[in-house]
Amino acid sequence: MKRILLLQTGGTISMQFETDGVVLDPARWSQVLYQQMPELTQIADITIENVFFEDSSDINPEHWKILGELIYKRLQNYDGFVVLHGTDTMAYTASALSFALNPINKPVIFTGSQVPMSNIRSDARRNLVNAIELATYPIHEVAVCFNDHLFRGNRSTKMSIGDFNAFESPNFPPLAEIGINIKLSADVMINSSVSATCNTHFSDAIHVIKVHPAINTRALDCLDLSTFKALIIEAFGIGNMPVKGHYNMLPFIKKCRDHHCHVIITSQAAYDAVNLDIYSSGRAVKELGGLSAGEMTMEAAITKTMHLLGQNLEEEVFNSKFMGNLTGERTVTESNTGKR
Ligand code: ASP
Repeated sequence: MKRILLLQTGGTISMQFETDGVVLDPARWSQVLYQQMPELTQIADITIENVFFEDSSDINPEHWKILGELIYKRLQNYDGFVVLHGTDTMAYTASALSFALNPINKPVIFTGSQVPMSNIRSDARRNLVNAIELATYPIHEVAVCFNDHLFRGNRSTKMSIGDFNAFESPNFPPLAEIGINIKLSADVMINSSVSATCNTHFSDAIHVIKVHPAINTRALDCLDLSTFKALIIEAFGIGNMPVKGHYNMLPFIKKCRDHHCHVIITSQAAYDAVNLDIYSSGRAVKELGGLSAGEMTMEAAITKTMHLLGQNLEEEVFNSKFMGNLTGERTVTESNTGKR
């Protein structure tokens, strides 16, 4: 039987319904798990480790570090890892760990649920059974298992608050579809011959801005540029933003670049890729040194930036690594991007 380490970090899957909402109750969680899911022991030899109990909105880079280093430390002792995690920031943690544990030669499968496990109509049982089963497969990457799908961790994003189908990977096909049988895609990474590495340095010296038609550029001007080394702009569509009148973003971008701050352009649209070559606004940003995040999810763009900043790279090296593919998070680079 395969040996699986089940790492508990919290989230709705581990919460209980109380009169005033759902709450985290570490002690009751393990009771519920064993009472409700005795069949888990038929899938694998499972060891449970409680790493932390958090609503995932409180998970931050320090938790990524603890989790990444723990998985790395236990790598030789287990065939696979399942991480129970809240859905709100699951895609961030999965993306971060994909960069921290690169390469990895064991499956690291994140899962959670929309409804606590103790509830009768919960998605927790199905997600957990699927995740544990998938953790016995030769999947050598960090992935998210939700609602009968397995997604690459750094391609996944939470799309729904109220639907069991909470996650998608908009620009990359699922790694597996789970029906009567589990069908693995040919895209699944298999790195059996490589030794895994672990690098959990993430810098939080980033700032994220969402563009809108009345963006307050005076407020941007008040930002203290010594507090961040990368600015991530969630732009319109293919990477455009206002470049006229009061709302012109270009002076602020120039100011950031003059302070050697990386400027990264992502999109408010989930599907397809940013391309700064198409419209004059994008070309102006590119001219100032703005980098396209291609088709990366926001979660991947943020955690990749934090990971690269954590390595203290020269600007050119940062740029080429950011524009390149580190671990399956992007395939589209500026030269081949475009509207499909
Ligand atoms: N707030 C919860 C969390 O992210 C939501 C969930 O798990 O679905 O921890």
